[in-house]
Amino acid sequence: MQRAVIRGAGLPLEIVPVTAASLPVPRLGAVIEIHCAGVCHSDIHFIDDETDMGGGTVSRIRDDIGSDFLTFTPGHEISGRVLSLGNHVDARSCNISLGDRVVVYPWIGCRQCGVCKEGYNCMCSFNPNGVKDIGQSAQGGFATHCSVPEVQYLIKLHDSIPFDVGCMFACSGLTSYWSLERARPAVELASKCGRTPRLLIIGAGGLGTWCAQIARQLYGTHGINISVADIWQSKLDGLPAGATDQNILLSEDTKAVQDNAESIVFGAGKMDVIINFVGNPATTQTSLLCAARGAYIINVGLWGGAADISMVNLIGNSLTLAGVRTGPVHCLQELVDLYSKSPITPPNIVPYKLCEVNKALDDLRRGDIHGRGIIYMDMHSI
Ligand SMILES: [Zn+2]
Ligand SMILES: [Zn+2]
Repeated sequence: MQRAVIRGAGLPLEIVPVTAASLPVPRLGAVIEIHCAGVCHSDIHFIDDETDMGGGTVSRIRDDIGSDFLTFTPGHEISGRVLSLGNHVDARSCNISLGDRVVVYPWIGCRQCGVCKEGYNCMCSFNPNGVKDIGQSAQGGFATHCSVPEVQYLIKLHDSIPFDVGCMFACSGLTSYWSLERARPAVELASKCGRTPRLLIIGAGGLGTWCAQIARQLYGTHGINISVADIWQSKLDGLPAGATDQNILLSEDTKAVQDNAESIVFGAGKMDVIINFVGNPATTQTSLLCAARGAYIINVGLWGGAADISMVNLIGNSLTLAGVRTGPVHCLQELVDLYSKSPITPPNIVPYKLCEVNKALDDLRRGDIHGRGIIYMDMHSI
């Protein structure tokens, strides 16, 4: 048993042995033998521990929690098999059994407050910096095993879903799904008014790939028109065939991005929904320029910084500006069910071994992973 541990902000993770005694089985939960763990940009934010809050302010988790930071194992996209179950798990009311193939819902929060008890743990107010979540604590997925405190946070994977695809549901898939659900009123209003709803996805990485295809499944009956924009032509070229109606290449230059935004607005039509998977000031301005009246702008990317927003524009155009941090547990189940019956092509997978976790993180920092980096705890299972 091994896990990769944070040894300092921005430093390589260290792989350390884990004893069975240090991984007790939670009374109402389970220990998972991990098969796969996805590598996410927010793992890098978490490890590097320097988030640009805008206005010259930087947020650091270690300032809040001190040396506990150096005990954490990142990794929140986790799939594997149930190795052991707690002695208070009620086998009659729970659909989880030993050996089941599962994806872990990691955004568990405090599990006690009203928000958590309603299943919206991802919005828990008692979870500063997300450190009560799985993968932002000692129990992350860059490890051979992890414990999950309650079996209600395990979602079964159908035998047809491989572990490497299944792990991605927990963050990149779920966040895309919930972003689209949050925007449902704008899609339905456009459709009711007799227009084709228009969706712009900013960022053609793993989340953008999920989002475009899930949008087609959720809103195909509304005839949704889907555009994906990115600064990398290679990432746009890597999107599955038929996933989008238009691909838009944006310039890296901020001024040119604004110019491109104008051409998007007038060339492709204003957008009813914009989902911003980058989240820097430039893409936020692009989102505002492209928004149709009544549009929903969903911000997901954690690039950071601050943006100037015209309040008159926001009000005059009846815009809804929302932030989405992952999604609730019932949406993870809905996503697994949707994937099982839909022709969705998962993002391209770049495989790594657990001992290569620092290479995976560095590749992601450099933007060299096209699709999703996945850590396989046992390379023979690829
Ligand atoms: Zn993530
Ligand atoms: Zn809570």
